[in-house]
Amino acid sequence: MVKNKLLLINPKNQQFYHGYRALPPIALAIVKALTPMHWQVDVVDENFQPLPDARYDMVGITTNTLNISKAYELAAMYRAKNSCVVLGGAHVTSMPDEAVQFADAVVVGDAENVWTELIADFESNRLQKKYYSGDNARFLMPDISFYGHNYTMYGIETSRGCHNHCAFCGIHMPRHKNYVRKPLDMIIEELQQSKNPFFTFVDNNFYGNDDAFLMQLFEEMLKQKINKKWQTGVSVNFFNNKELVKMAAKAGAAMFFVGFESDTGQSLKELNKNNFRQSNNIFGDYRSIIKTCHKNGIMVSGNFMLGIEGDTEQIIAERAAFFKNLGLDECACVILTPLPATRIFRKYHEENRLFYTNFPDDWKHYHYGKSLVKHENISPERLEQLAYEYNMQFRQRFSDMAAAFITTGSLKSTVFYYLYCRSFGKYSSGFFDRLASSMQK
Ligand code: SF4
Repeated sequence: MVKNKLLLINPKNQQFYHGYRALPPIALAIVKALTPMHWQVDVVDENFQPLPDARYDMVGITTNTLNISKAYELAAMYRAKNSCVVLGGAHVTSMPDEAVQFADAVVVGDAENVWTELIADFESNRLQKKYYSGDNARFLMPDISFYGHNYTMYGIETSRGCHNHCAFCGIHMPRHKNYVRKPLDMIIEELQQSKNPFFTFVDNNFYGNDDAFLMQLFEEMLKQKINKKWQTGVSVNFFNNKELVKMAAKAGAAMFFVGFESDTGQSLKELNKNNFRQSNNIFGDYRSIIKTCHKNGIMVSGNFMLGIEGDTEQIIAERAAFFKNLGLDECACVILTPLPATRIFRKYHEENRLFYTNFPDDWKHYHYGKSLVKHENISPERLEQLAYEYNMQFRQRFSDMAAAFITTGSLKSTVFYYLYCRSFGKYSSGFFDRLASSMQK
């Protein structure tokens, strides 16, 4: 029997992180697992693999706002070859009406709920233009056979959704209104399946206000001797439970990304970040989180934002000093960016304050390093210059690797930290490259 042929593509990010291969494209591993056996599935990560010449019956492309121009370009190319093109991913989910103009069909939300139906519709010539997944996430074991040794670390989800509602985040619109956790035995099985000694819990909010589940997960990771180093993003309330932090460390936590974002009650209110907004001592509260992590041998990464409503050059200088003095292991600053489907996008669009609105072409500017909104106190050029200068000050050096070793007491955690920094072009060293590849063999 002649098989139908499906090509899945992770498009190249044209502007940043050329050759990015820190994390695998999990969405494609899920779609591959969902595709029936009578299809032949090829996966290409355009960041480091060439596109094949062969003709495919269907081409599925995963997207985000950074790679959307390339995704639309590829869609046009494959449609010209008479392939049916299906687009999905974060950007398409936020902008389905835009995306559908470039594709034969779009998946809005999670593929798990609609991919089987989409394939059946294609096979019976009834393909619809839009497939909506609904709010409830469903989990399955991804097909990771195409990962090989191509990625720096493994990526695994334990949940979808988030209880918080930060003004700059698009997670709730139009998907993931509920917070849903993946079954624990599935998480453990997946971790056992990966040979990579490093991984990231890629959840939007790994904590999920669920101490009991995480305690159980960490205990199981220890019991099953997972023995890998990992990182993840957590909201600040994770650190209220010191026992949980201790158990995370025992289960291999090397670094936490913490959503600090800003330094004053007023600016946190603007971002709708509710933790510490009422605090009398935000610096002390943040510092205590970092001390708790360091005491347990875990590093902390925390970004801060520029261009928040009310910011002046003086306020930004104070914020940069605040973050510099916190004792973070990794820090960067980003310009407040109204990604599609976020509340701030709607607000600035309605107020006619966005500089770039010729979409989809102008999505290329929505990358956290560009000033996109007319600000009351600071010119766009000055804001971009400040972001550049502060990021230069926060760049990684060899001494940071030494500090990472002192903090964690672990060579494996230090190498993991190095790999993370290298992925984002922050630091690179032949010595650590050799060390890392010997650990990954
Ligand atoms: S905590 Fe993270 S995932 Fe949750 S709303 Fe805020 S930015 Fe989004």
